Amino acid sequence: MRIVLLGAPGSGKGTQAQKLIEKYHVPQISTGDLLRAAVASGSDLGKKAKKFMDEGQLVTDELVLGMIEERLAQEDTKNGYILDGFPRNIPQAEALDKLLSKLQKPLDGAILIDVDFDILLKRITGRRTCDSCGQVYNIYSSPPSKEGACDKCDGTLQHRSDDNEQTISSRLKVYEEQTCPLIDYYSEQSILRKIKGTGDIEDIFKRVCSAIDLLNK
Ligand code: AMP
Repeated sequence: MRIVLLGAPGSGKGTQAQKLIEKYHVPQISTGDLLRAAVASGSDLGKKAKKFMDEGQLVTDELVLGMIEERLAQEDTKNGYILDGFPRNIPQAEALDKLLSKLQKPLDGAILIDVDFDILLKRITGRRTCDSCGQVYNIYSSPPSKEGACDKCDGTLQHRSDDNEQTISSRLKVYEEQTCPLIDYYSEQSILRKIKGTGDIEDIFKRVCSAIDLLNK
């Protein structure tokens, strides 16, 4: 199963991807997570990426494509993967298609998690992520039982540095201008499925799974 999860920042892609890896046993590949790890490690790639990330802009295609090509060559992607946050623009989508057609393993589909813009803002400012296991919480809608600590592993919950209001508005603008055109791109290939991304997390998950099951038929 080779799936792209599409959706604005805060649409719940990461949360749904975590649930999908448990159900389908394929890895989640999040370019945002890979880039944050590169920044934390202080690597050359991380140093180059940080400036763009802090401004809410996209990191250059060259950096991201190199990183994704390397990731997709790893053994654990043999039976598929869930791409989360990649591709982010048409050139990245075209490069991905080219790479996958060379490997003769095209995408099965793209799932768009659709959420209204006013809800997105609240979701992003309330988001907290566990720095050990990656579990995502929201202080408004799904808070942990103990403030600042992960329910699963007691790790520390972090507020991402780019989840502040100023960076968020540029991230949402970038999404609208550069990522939204992917909706038409995958529609034209007849592999786009759109689902409503509001309401209970489990209900959203059921919608995502039905969309995936239909793609695999
Ligand atoms: P995310 O966690 O997916 O919201 O990504 C956080 C930040 O990492 C974005 O605002 C971008 O600066 C950068 N980023 C993540 N994925 C990509 C991508 N596919 N292309 C370019 N920049 C990316």
